[in-house]
Amino acid sequence: MTKYKLEYIWLDGYTPVPNLRGKTQIKEFDSFPTLEMLPLWGFDGSSTKQAEGSSSDCVLKPVRVFPDPARKNGVLVLCEVMMPDGTTPHPSNKRATILDDEGAWFGFEQEYFFYKNGRPLGFPESGYPAPQGPYYTGVGYANVGSVARRIVEEHLDLCLDAGINHEGINAEVAKGQWEFQIFGKGSRKAADEMWMARYLLQRLCETYEIDVEYHCKPLGDTDWNGSGMHCNFSTAYLREVGGKAYFEALMAAFDRNLEDHIAVYGPDNHMRLTGKHETAPWNKFSYGVADRGASVRVPHSFVKNDYKGYLEDRRPNSMGDPYQIASQVLKTISEVPTE
Ligand code: ADP
Ligand code: MN
Ligand code: MN
Ligand code: MN
Ligand code: MN
Repeated sequence: MTKYKLEYIWLDGYTPVPNLRGKTQIKEFDSFPTLEMLPLWGFDGSSTKQAEGSSSDCVLKPVRVFPDPARKNGVLVLCEVMMPDGTTPHPSNKRATILDDEGAWFGFEQEYFFYKNGRPLGFPESGYPAPQGPYYTGVGYANVGSVARRIVEEHLDLCLDAGINHEGINAEVAKGQWEFQIFGKGSRKAADEMWMARYLLQRLCETYEIDVEYHCKPLGDTDWNGSGMHCNFSTAYLREVGGKAYFEALMAAFDRNLEDHIAVYGPDNHMRLTGKHETAPWNKFSYGVADRGASVRVPHSFVKNDYKGYLEDRRPNSMGDPYQIASQVLKTISEVPTE
């Protein structure tokens, strides 16, 4: 028997975006525990905006298990929050709102800033570093400093060792800004792994005394780029049948549901989706082939392939909840009839 450290991880009840929470329990198992071996657990919902003080217990229901590469005998247990009955999803549990669809594939591109003492990592104490230009995919101390890449590489290894399906990393347009991409098959897989990857990044950064800044426009109304979380998506029908008529009906549905999408695409998105800096204005839906200034970018390959493949919704921002984003995308897709 081995004593495993089970880190139960969940999302709290803060709005408009939840925070990650976690606590550890030790349990003995003969071998690395599978999902079925992990019990429900509880927590004090009155401390996480998930319950009133008088009757405050909420239930943690394990939904995904990962080895914890940074902890001896460590297990990362991603949970959904349930009501005290253990079966009804708590209102804050947005994962439970995602339509089941094994044929749905998502790829999220998470952009973020490293922050040190309230400023982007590598910024001088006052004023600004040299303007944007050399930082995107840059190399060298002047461009990326000495710490950022070390964290990015460590984070990548932690994620790969945990079994998270990273597809790549890159330095971004602003100094101190980086990106990683996660892809998953199934309507919840990429979103689950995005939350786990965020958890591992934030925990890793503690030891460097560095914060992860997810705000979509942390430098406000300046020429410094904001951060997005582009949502690349496809369904079995889009990949295998598609067609121009279906594509146009789908885009009409996205247009019609603009407000529902923007509501879950991350806070303060009007600051980022201004129509400048490779963005479309937040309040007007558009799509375009290979157009990085449209709400939805249609890859060249999609059109060449008789309107089959995946699409990129460029509007979700870096602070968005991938559960709510995936949920809304699939809801809109479900409104469009297929033959
Ligand atoms: P860019 O920065 O040019 O927009 P990236 O390479 O950073 O592109 O991200 C593209 C994302 O699209 C990746 O996460 C990838 O996994 C995802 N993707 C590729 N094919 C599909 C598909 N068929 N369905 C859903 N997502 C996809
Ligand atoms: Mn206690
Ligand atoms: Mn990208
Ligand atoms: Mn990017
Ligand atoms: Mn993109």
